[in-house]
Amino acid sequence: MGAEPPSAFPAPCTADFPLDELARGGQARAGALTSTLWDRPRRGALQLNVVFLDGEASVQALVRQHARAWEESANVRFNFLGIERYADAHIRITMPPTRSFHSYLGTGSAQIDRRLPSMTLGFTDDVLAEPKEVRRLVLHEFGHALGLIHEHQNPNGGLKFKEPEVFEYFWRTQRWDERTVREQVIRPARAEELSNASKFDPDSIMLYAFPPSIIAAGPVSATKLNYELSEQDRRTIAALYPKDPTVPSPPDRPEETGVLPLRIGEPSTASIPIRGAEIPFGLLVREPGRYVIETFTPEGAREEFWVMTLLDSDRDVVASDREGSSPHGLNARIECDLEPGRYVLIVRHRLRAGLGSFGVLALRKW
Ligand SMILES: [Zn+2]
Repeated sequence: MGAEPPSAFPAPCTADFPLDELARGGQARAGALTSTLWDRPRRGALQLNVVFLDGEASVQALVRQHARAWEESANVRFNFLGIERYADAHIRITMPPTRSFHSYLGTGSAQIDRRLPSMTLGFTDDVLAEPKEVRRLVLHEFGHALGLIHEHQNPNGGLKFKEPEVFEYFWRTQRWDERTVREQVIRPARAEELSNASKFDPDSIMLYAFPPSIIAAGPVSATKLNYELSEQDRRTIAALYPKDPTVPSPPDRPEETGVLPLRIGEPSTASIPIRGAEIPFGLLVREPGRYVIETFTPEGAREEFWVMTLLDSDRDVVASDREGSSPHGLNARIECDLEPGRYVLIVRHRLRAGLGSFGVLALRKW
């Protein structure tokens, strides 16, 4: 894919394939297409303006929320502007009612007419019914917008596909023709055109899911769908758009024994081990902004009624939810403005005798 100019690379990404076998490990290289990386300012964050050309406000809000995950690792700030500012927008999003997802690679979006979309997020109702799939697709397409290529198109020791099985598979599942499959799946990028080449990452958000039946050779015999930024995704984007050196790193371990770390953008799960127990999480907020903290029901767990209280470092209550305010079942939701500092989030069952497992996720909204 690196052989052609970036503007020729709208990258179709409708990866949603069933898998019967998973594997991981091995070596290869991947990274970002150097020619499409945004120029970093000498100081401060790279500011990328984003405009929605259409779409419902509620879906736009989801996109804003999930895209923030990249900001946690990179010195990048997405500024979501009103549509009247489309001429100033680096990323221009259209949301058609048909299932299709693609984005220009990095600065490729600046090489087309500013009135045209650079990213397509075609959320259909069935996709919107799966919150983690929505998140996966937003993270993946914003990865492209930052200049990241597909992980499976690594140039060095990557996946080799069986032909004609791979063409048959993508025709059957995506209606992609051979040319599209070659561009989006088979053709490796050129190593000399990549920045920050790194080991093949089976957990990358930039990887498609492939069943073993179409993989001929490679470090893995199949790949899975990944729903969050992997450790290596974070390291890669942090290296490409490094944070200013004055910004302190979060602590490796929580200061208080028994307090679980809750990192912005990283879901955490826990269980209530004994009736009436409360689970405390330590939350380090490094940047001021509006934050949303929400519990969720982990896969396979029973839906329970959770309540949450957020305390500041003086143990004063900042916010709480006892009403199950989340739009998802009986989960708890807190939305509030937070200043930088250390906070403690306490989660417990609504019923004093209640038990169960829950997940919790804190995100910066703006
Ligand atoms: Zn893609």
